Amino acid sequence: MQALQQKKIVVLGTGGTIAGLAQGAAPGCYRSAQKDVADLMGGVPVPTGMTLSVVQVAQIDSKDMDLPVWQALLAAARSWLDQTDVRALLVTHGTDTLEETAWLLQAMLAPTKPVVLTCAMRPADAVDADGPRNLADALIVAADPQARGVLVVCAGRVLGAQDVQKVHSSRLDAFGAGEAGDIARVLDGHVHWLRDCPKPEPAGSLDALLAAARLPRVEIVLSHAAASAAAVDAIVDRGTATRLGAEHVRGLVLAGTGGGTLHHALEAAARRAQAQGVRVVRTTRCADGWLQPRPDEEFPVLALSPVKARLALMLELLER
Ligand code: ASP
Repeated sequence: MQALQQKKIVVLGTGGTIAGLAQGAAPGCYRSAQKDVADLMGGVPVPTGMTLSVVQVAQIDSKDMDLPVWQALLAAARSWLDQTDVRALLVTHGTDTLEETAWLLQAMLAPTKPVVLTCAMRPADAVDADGPRNLADALIVAADPQARGVLVVCAGRVLGAQDVQKVHSSRLDAFGAGEAGDIARVLDGHVHWLRDCPKPEPAGSLDALLAAARLPRVEIVLSHAAASAAAVDAIVDRGTATRLGAEHVRGLVLAGTGGGTLHHALEAAARRAQAQGVRVVRTTRCADGWLQPRPDEEFPVLALSPVKARLALMLELLER
């Protein structure tokens, strides 16, 4: 009965290349986040029986994503999802930090209704723009009865918030989901499910995030050949932070080699940081594969990409 009432898909626009324009920009360049989301939706077929509401939440290049935009998006998403006639949300977003926003929406809202993010690699006024197809596919996924939780739709693929990662800088099919693989494909207007949508797990307090004036400072440091302690020591040094007008660092994500291993110089610096009260976690710099968290490790492992591990650690520290 409730499913019958849920006919509305709410489109929340945040900018990105999907709303970008090449006209007027220098040759070979384009400006991200120019076109209103209402204009982008014009001409995109709406699935039978559904209606659309369109809201411009922000208009940014997602490389500049920041706490105020996330707060506005999360607050809007929560209030729309609470409405009984809303079946799903569609979020338009730039590709650069889409995976971070997808993970955050999943962690903060753990929605059972579908929240579908989509994007484009070509601006809206390109002759062969990919945005309209991605928008149409995303609406089809949003309206599908099997869809649930936060999903990303791009180039006919449906990927989960936990696994999605931008893996190519220019290809239209710019995203991957590593070994987890695609959840579904959209072909000729139909969703072909390959597996169930993952069950969303909440990972922090939305109220705490919405009330925050800033996020706790957490830095990512990559381990590599011929690493030194200098980067970690400089990040942790309180005098340097004060001089730069930065918060004192509260967390470090070490993007280790392979199985999360660390260059010995970096490891020693991380140990010193931890002794000074900085929370240190490890992940891998590899795009594929995962680390198995084990109890009692000196630097606990987070089975997430470095950027998502950073978000997870910030959410944890926010509540301390
Ligand atoms: N810089 C753009 C953005 O993330 C790239 C894109 O959308 O593809 O907003």
